Amino acid sequence: MPAEQKFELLGLNLEELTAVAVEKGQPQYRGEQLAEAIYRQRVTSVDAISTLPFAFRTVLADAGFRIGRPVIHRSFASVDGTVRYLIRLSDSESVETVWMPEGDGGEAGDGTEAGDAESATRAPSWNRATICVSSQVGCAVNCQFCLTAKLGIRRNLSAGEIVGQVLDVLSDQKVAMEQQRINLVFMGMGEPFLNYENFMKAVRLLVQEVGFPESRMTVSTAGIVSRIIDFGKESIRPKLAISLNGSNDAGREDVMPINRKWSLDALLEAARTFPLRSREKLTFEYVLLRGVNDSINNAREVVHLLRGIRAKVNLIALNPGPDLPFGTPSEEIVAAFQQVLIRGGIPAFVRRPRGRDIYAACGQLKRTEELVAIGS
Ligand code: SF4
Repeated sequence: MPAEQKFELLGLNLEELTAVAVEKGQPQYRGEQLAEAIYRQRVTSVDAISTLPFAFRTVLADAGFRIGRPVIHRSFASVDGTVRYLIRLSDSESVETVWMPEGDGGEAGDGTEAGDAESATRAPSWNRATICVSSQVGCAVNCQFCLTAKLGIRRNLSAGEIVGQVLDVLSDQKVAMEQQRINLVFMGMGEPFLNYENFMKAVRLLVQEVGFPESRMTVSTAGIVSRIIDFGKESIRPKLAISLNGSNDAGREDVMPINRKWSLDALLEAARTFPLRSREKLTFEYVLLRGVNDSINNAREVVHLLRGIRAKVNLIALNPGPDLPFGTPSEEIVAAFQQVLIRGGIPAFVRRPRGRDIYAACGQLKRTEELVAIGS
């Protein structure tokens, strides 16, 4: 094993960490010590794992092992407490991860770069929060209302890079896992089901090593039908959300070209047969685009499509962005759409946009460093 090569421990599960330790002549329980340090104590360098003998730390370092946590490069705080993190990966690519506190918190920032993370990126008071996690650098799916799509796909994230985003944010926000109610949503940059193996490994690490309950995680897919079927067979899995955004094939194809590969028929058949747990519902997300998919007739079509599926719908009025050829519907249009769904027997909720002023809202993640450059 050449010393100049780097081997990242973050992303390895307990069995793999134990194998590393045993291969270096250590007892099996060193694997558990490594997992405890990396995933629960959130240690960022091998040298700082004080539970390991100095000699073993030296052996690991000499062999090129490092923890490999991605680093927070910059952060931007919104007036609503949301913080958008730009996280740098080992090859200098970057992704965005978003922290959304809720509860009694007041204003956490002024919509500009956070600067001193100690004071500016932390809401003064909150009792629950959501972390929005990226799964790829860029995205290949090309949803027409999404800024991330403008990047194209650059590469998949490793399981360690997916988990690393969560650990970075928890550390920056000084969150003790046992004290706080944190939800994870895999709705950041990328389509998780086009990076399925790494995404699922990250999920298992977050559940088994970091300590997140599956019930507090949701993954959103644009509708990769073959993977929805695989996902239903997983023994450990988050809840499932499906990005709908169209009420018929022609309309959906216009905003989500992926509909040409997996039509609404195929998508809704996968949804209908998805093995839901007791009391679990599927979530359908519907981004409302002014004059495109927001009519009463569209709403009636959605009611028809979702009939017989245990589901709820989250309505999101488009988050505006530069170079997007769509407008945001009025509150009245959104409310009228919602009422049709509710009268049709479908629970429907209007999602409040978070962090719009710092480009942290749904579909706005584009690794933007300069707010002014995108019109804020
Ligand atoms: S909405 Fe999601 S799946 Fe669609 S292009 Fe954006 S990141 Fe990709």
